[in-house]
Amino acid sequence: MLLLLPTSTYRARDFVQAAQRLGVEVVVGSDEMPVLMEGSGERAVVVPLDEPDTAAEVIVALDGRRGVDAVVAVDDRGVLAAAAAGERLGFPHNPPDAVAATRDKEAMRRALGAAEVPQPAFVVTEDALPDPAALPFPWVLKPVDRSGSQGVIRADDLVEARAAAVRVHAVSDGPLLVERYVPGVEVAVEGLLRDGELTVLAVFDKPDPLEGPYFEETIYVTPSRLGAESLARVEAVTARACAAIGLVEGPVHAELRLEPDRDRVHVIEVAARSIGGLCARTLRFGAGIALEELVLRHALSMPLDGIVREPGASGVMMLPIPAAGVLRGVDGQDAAKEVPGITGLEITIPPGRQVVPLPEGDRYLGFLFARGATPEAVEESLRTAHARLTIALEGGAIAP
Ligand code: ADP
Ligand code: CA
Repeated sequence: MLLLLPTSTYRARDFVQAAQRLGVEVVVGSDEMPVLMEGSGERAVVVPLDEPDTAAEVIVALDGRRGVDAVVAVDDRGVLAAAAAGERLGFPHNPPDAVAATRDKEAMRRALGAAEVPQPAFVVTEDALPDPAALPFPWVLKPVDRSGSQGVIRADDLVEARAAAVRVHAVSDGPLLVERYVPGVEVAVEGLLRDGELTVLAVFDKPDPLEGPYFEETIYVTPSRLGAESLARVEAVTARACAAIGLVEGPVHAELRLEPDRDRVHVIEVAARSIGGLCARTLRFGAGIALEELVLRHALSMPLDGIVREPGASGVMMLPIPAAGVLRGVDGQDAAKEVPGITGLEITIPPGRQVVPLPEGDRYLGFLFARGATPEAVEESLRTAHARLTIALEGGAIAP
């Protein structure tokens, strides 16, 4: 199995461990040869992740030498290369165009629009802002080619919109996507596609209000507290969105908003990968099977029984970055870990590094995990533990 991962991902270990549990031999493909892997024979190869055709050539050549049975992209960076290689080598794969549409918000909006999947009204522009008569405020402005809410800014009038556009352009010089702001609660759907059929693995609530002007993700809790009818609509719209984009195989992660009153579920986004960062650690299936293991099993066409999430509730808090500065460290970690229900805490930015809050920032500070009997208990554990952490920046300490 070839695992495609950017050199910087902290999730590589979870995938490598899942492969070991399955007894699968892993070759790691990334942009650069990891220092630790140098001279390790062919356990690592250099694959140019941003050049899918070249990457596919490299992978086909590797298959000639080693026999590759599956290619799995760990995150967004590798999905295009994995699709191109899957096509060449005949593995279950997504069409490269469909994967490309998940990396380009304009293409995604157009594909969803063509299939009449409910989504916010939008305008794509190079410079001139839309006419508010045609697209009423509030708006959300965003670049078409970023992720993790980077450059995503709400604007309630033209003055705010002009300022937001300048900030979006500083993040990315591509086209600007301007959407109607959809009010309401937001959920994330984790799913697995097999031959065009979507299995929903988990639906996460995002209990912190995401109303802007920036959209920092914090708490994810599953199972969702939405009613059965709303959940059924969320699942149906997610399946329609995948079909509209053309996704047919492998993990998907979708975000949707439920607009109050209008009884409408809007697709915010669909990605052709599993949940980002370390958030997959919240999920276990059957008898303690990790999400990564399901993804690998699917890629290897291995049987996939028992993909029901374990009982109980589980959640994660993506630790917000309160201000820009050089990180001295995160204090109070032991006290946070002692909070009942907390199952883990990982700080993913080392001391001495610059941290940048949204909308310009592009990295998670860390992840706090909890389990409990109910979603309410999990949310409470996460909030209590978070309140015990202090993010220390050079020149002053800042409480969360
Ligand atoms: P990214 O790829 O950076 O995650 P998204 O389009 O998913 O960009 O936007 C990030 C977050 O911003 C969403 O999860 C949502 O909370 C908020 N958001 C984005 N677009 C809208 C919209 N049209 N209406 C309301 N909120 C939105
Ligand atoms: Ca998103």
